Amino acid sequence: MNIEQRIAQAESALQGVFSKIDAIELANTEKVLNAFREEQVSYRHFAPSTGYGYDDIGRDTLGKIFAKVFGTESAIVRPQIASGTHALALTMQGILRPGDVLLCASGRPYDTLEEVIGLSGESGNGSLMEYGVEYRECELTENGEIDIEKVLSMLDERVRLVHIQRSRGYAWRPALTADEINRVIDAVHAKSSRAVVMVDNCYGEFCQTEEPHADLLAGSLIKNPGGGLAPTGGYIAGRSDLVDLVAYRMTSPGIGAEVGSYAASYQPFYQGLFMAPHVTAQAIKCSALASKLFADMGYAVEPAFDASRNDIIQAIRFEEADKLIAFVRAVQAVSPVDSYVTPEAWSMPGYQDPVIMAAGTFVAGASIELSADAPVRAPYIGYLQGGLTYAHGKLAMKLAIETMEAL
Ligand SMILES: *Cc1c(COP(=O)(O)O)cnc(C)c1O
Repeated sequence: MNIEQRIAQAESALQGVFSKIDAIELANTEKVLNAFREEQVSYRHFAPSTGYGYDDIGRDTLGKIFAKVFGTESAIVRPQIASGTHALALTMQGILRPGDVLLCASGRPYDTLEEVIGLSGESGNGSLMEYGVEYRECELTENGEIDIEKVLSMLDERVRLVHIQRSRGYAWRPALTADEINRVIDAVHAKSSRAVVMVDNCYGEFCQTEEPHADLLAGSLIKNPGGGLAPTGGYIAGRSDLVDLVAYRMTSPGIGAEVGSYAASYQPFYQGLFMAPHVTAQAIKCSALASKLFADMGYAVEPAFDASRNDIIQAIRFEEADKLIAFVRAVQAVSPVDSYVTPEAWSMPGYQDPVIMAAGTFVAGASIELSADAPVRAPYIGYLQGGLTYAHGKLAMKLAIETMEAL
């Protein structure tokens, strides 16, 4: 069979999977649309602001809409939040005080948080540990689930913040379901009145119809909730007293979320959120197709093509460095931007191993657009994510497979 025929065969096996994804998209689009209607979004909300940005209606209404969509009391959504890591760091720094304990319930957090916490990086960089925060980590079980009993055994009155990462990140494990996360949140709250639970929601938004009911959710706007249109930014959504604490850290104590202007239009943030359920569904379809095609070729994949998805990532285990690199380069070569450049592994700030990355994206580095990245370390697992359109993902897989079979 030629590659077109193999893709056509994979697509017929995926019909049932695709209809489930369509149903999730419909429910999430309704949720987002209702929030826009309730807040009576109009052109005035897109207008830029300058200076302090007091009473910036575009900024404040965007926060209210995110809160409605995520089912929280409050949210801050800002272009000034530079990345997902920044949103997560602000959350930790806003809540934790000297002497408090941070408990990571889903094992080692995402690579870039290591330096935020103080697990790696230069001393004297202002990490949480430098400010007297103690760190505890609870490994996932062998099946990649949160070990609730063990988390509870590590939970005492000194624990102020429990961190859970929903997505797999750069790890060979399934993403956590909202149900599983909610069970941990409930168990933590039943045992401790002091502990606050935050979820690193990066890559998880809109993959299912429910978001985890955490005290705080944080994520990046150049991933799912920006819908491919937000040019930058991050969000923190949650209980309003806690979001206020994070806002005090974001600007300054006493001022919080009341300042912050944006001299460009807020339109891409609104339109991006409106598009986000659709774009996330397209990305998940690209991942499911890749999963099926690479599994058919004998590669280990995670998740399986027909598994229910809680993040947009498709992990493929290449076993050999040159196969991984060829795959990443093929994804770059079939990108709309910078298709002619050849990705090389490099030491990215915040990451421990050299990382190779394909991101031929309109918004620089945006991983809701079709992109692939991998720390170059055995067993050479590549992480594919994004895809603004399914057709793009399909063309990319065709070229990737052709390239790899020619190696
Ligand atoms: C991307 C990501 C982050 C960090 O976001 P950046 O925008 O790259 O700083 C944190 N956690 C997870 C799970 C992520 O996927």
